[in-house]
Amino acid sequence: MATIIPLTDVRSASNAETRRAELDAFVRNAANGSFTAPGPLHDPRGRPLHDLRISVTDRCNFRCVYCMPRDVFDADYHFLPHAELLTFEEIARLARLFVARGVAKIRLTGGEPLLRRNIERLVAMLAETGVADITLTTNGALLAKKARSLRDAGLTRVTVSLDSLDDATFRAMNDADFPVAKVLDGIDAAAAAGLAPVKINMVVKRGMNEGGIVDMARHFRGTGHIVRFIEFMDVGATNGWRMDDVVPAAEIVRMIDAVFPLASTDPNYAGEVAERWRYRDGGGEIGVIASVTQAFCRDCSRARLSTDGRLYTCLFASDGYDLRSLIRGSTGDADIDSTIAAIWRQRTDNYSEIRRANTARLPKVEMSYIGG
Ligand code: SAM
Repeated sequence: MATIIPLTDVRSASNAETRRAELDAFVRNAANGSFTAPGPLHDPRGRPLHDLRISVTDRCNFRCVYCMPRDVFDADYHFLPHAELLTFEEIARLARLFVARGVAKIRLTGGEPLLRRNIERLVAMLAETGVADITLTTNGALLAKKARSLRDAGLTRVTVSLDSLDDATFRAMNDADFPVAKVLDGIDAAAAAGLAPVKINMVVKRGMNEGGIVDMARHFRGTGHIVRFIEFMDVGATNGWRMDDVVPAAEIVRMIDAVFPLASTDPNYAGEVAERWRYRDGGGEIGVIASVTQAFCRDCSRARLSTDGRLYTCLFASDGYDLRSLIRGSTGDADIDSTIAAIWRQRTDNYSEIRRANTARLPKVEMSYIGG
């Protein structure tokens, strides 16, 4: 496989420093700001703050070629030292503030969230915030072992990534020689523990696994699980993304529809990421996530908290707002809340609407650091 060269050059590195300084100044000013009326938050485009994604580790036991390519994330790669990670107490404190501002769904992600020791304890702490939905995205490797304890701690649902049912293809894509069968065991354990409906994420990359789309649909039809087919995205700066590698969601739907006729279905709520399709014969539903070919920025209601406590208002952002400096300083909850409100109220992100071939080269945070 060709070596993938990170695309950051000297000029963008100095831009990145300037941008970080601007965001840090924004946080300092907002934290010294005046009282902000409580209640749900909307950004200038009218988008509510509804979902919070929390990356609990930047480490992963897989090296998926489209996410953490092994040539970059190798033995010399500097993962965050433990002291840089938000503690569970820090995460729970921030989560409480977000929930008070209207967040109804929290998703734990990473890196691989099940690698974070005692993750069940964090789930239990988040359940105490009263948030309606706590879910988690995992590669499934440790799920068979942990599904029951996660459920007991208060997890409501789980999403499992599985890019192919063909063992050779899957092992090549996860680049950790991990077999399909073990992920399927994890999915079974999750369903048995009541973490239903289980969602299954398949990232489709041209020339790699699109031949397995219909097999994936066939395998999970009638099980109650929901497969979501995801367009390969230009997240981060290391996965060598090219538009030619994207299999458009419309093509995916056509392939499945030709074998198992589909009808489109309404979203569960405004801002839902996946476009829903149901099998006409009642065999369940699938979703497609078309971030590249059908941008859904217009409804995006997601904030992302990175492993080291930066708040990102877009998956494709180059940097985030440092909330950790506030919680590790002497800032009280009211001022942290004002900062969160100020950040959301000036959020204008719409990266997927302005994506062009050359925007893929902009410096962007890695997905493993802010989570999927
Ligand atoms: N380790 C966990 C997992 O494998 O699900 C959670 C983190 S992973 C970054 C979250 C999701 O993002 C996974 O479903 C993964 O397949 C997806 N993902 C990662 N890189 C992607 C890319 N470039 N385009 C589309 N989806 C991607």
